[in-house]
Amino acid sequence: MSKYTSSSTDSGIICPVCGRKKSDDLPFIGNLCRDCFLEKYGLAHVPDFIHITICNSCGAYRIGKQWIYSNPTSLEEAVYEAVYTALLSKIKPVTGIRFVSIKDLKSSAPINTYGEYEFKVLIEGESMEGVVAQKEYIVKVRVSAGLCPKCIRRKVGYHEALVQIRGIGGKLSERDRDIVLDYLDTFPLKLKEQIVDIIDKREGLDLLVTDATSARIIASKISGKFLGKKIETYSLSGRRNDGRRLGHLTISLRIASVKNGDILNVDGEPSYVADITGTRIRLVNLETGKESSLNADQFWSHRITEYTPTDKTRRVMLASKDRSNVIFLDVESGYANTIEYPPERVVNLTNRELREGDEYIVYLTGKAIYIIS
Ligand SMILES: [Zn+2]
Ligand SMILES: [Zn+2]
Repeated sequence: MSKYTSSSTDSGIICPVCGRKKSDDLPFIGNLCRDCFLEKYGLAHVPDFIHITICNSCGAYRIGKQWIYSNPTSLEEAVYEAVYTALLSKIKPVTGIRFVSIKDLKSSAPINTYGEYEFKVLIEGESMEGVVAQKEYIVKVRVSAGLCPKCIRRKVGYHEALVQIRGIGGKLSERDRDIVLDYLDTFPLKLKEQIVDIIDKREGLDLLVTDATSARIIASKISGKFLGKKIETYSLSGRRNDGRRLGHLTISLRIASVKNGDILNVDGEPSYVADITGTRIRLVNLETGKESSLNADQFWSHRITEYTPTDKTRRVMLASKDRSNVIFLDVESGYANTIEYPPERVVNLTNRELREGDEYIVYLTGKAIYIIS
C-alpha cells in the first residue's frame, strides 16, 4: 500500500502528510498525526501583537476600555499579568481543538521599562478526541505608560473642561470608540495626564480634562485626525477657594465616524465615501454621480446623517456581461428578478473585479448602477 493512502482498519491508520502510523506515542487529531496537525493548524488563533497600557503610578493595566486593578510589586509583574489577561481574552482554539490554556509565558528580555517586548507563549490544548498537545507562539507586546482614572483623580481632584466626542447621527459606535481610545493612547504622557476620566456614555465618550488649554489641544488633535467639527461653550460655575473665578469649558466634538466604502446621507442624498483622511473626504453622490472632495468645514456645512438602506440598495449576483449588456440577478428575490444596464452605466466604486457568479451590494438609480461593496 502506498504510504499516502490511509487504511480503514484502526491499527493501520496512517498520516497522509508524514506517512507515519498511528500509535500510543503518535496519537491522531482528526485525520492527521499530532505533529502534522500542530504544524498545519496549530492549537489556537493567537494574536501576533498586543498593546497594553500600565498605570505609571499604581500598576493597574488597561484591557480595552477597562482598567484592572491588582497590586503588582514591579513593572515586570504588572506586564506579565496584563499580557496573560489580554491573551486569555483573545486566544481562541482552532477547529478540532476543544479547549486551550496558557501553560507558560516568558519575555525574551527583562522588563524594567516601557517599550516593546517579545513573549514566548506556550499553549496547551486538548483535541475533541482527548489528545493533549503543546505549541509555542511568539507574541510582540507593546507596553505603554498611562495613568488610570483613579490616580488622575487623586492627583487632580477636579476638572475644568469636558470634551464630548460624538459621531455622525449623534452617536459613536463601539468600533469608533475603540479607534478614538487607541488614538488617545498615543498622546504624550503629559497630555494624557490631563484627562481625569473617560466616561463611556451611550452616545459617545466624555473626556474630563483638568484645564481648558489641554482640552482644546486634545479636541484639536482628535478633530484633525477624524475630520471633526468643534463647538465650544463656556460657562462660569463659581469661585475657587483661592477666589479665582472658576469657569467650565465644554467642547462638543463631532467626528466623521465613517470609513471608505460607507454610505452617508449628505443633505438627504446618499453619498458613497470613496476616501477619507483626517482632513479631507471624497464623496460620490449616488443619485447624481457627482464627485466632491471636502475639507472638514465644507463637510460639516452640509446636513450629515446616517444612511439607512432603502430598496435602492440591493444584493445582486453578476450573471453575465458583454459589450452591450451587464445582467445582474436580485439575490433577495431568489435570483428571479434581473437587472440590466449597459456597461457604461455600471459604476464600480470598489476595487473588486467584476466576475460572473460573484455577489455585490449595489445602489440603483434610474441612470446607473453603483457597485458599493
Ligand atoms: Zn503526520
Ligand atoms: Zn493608577
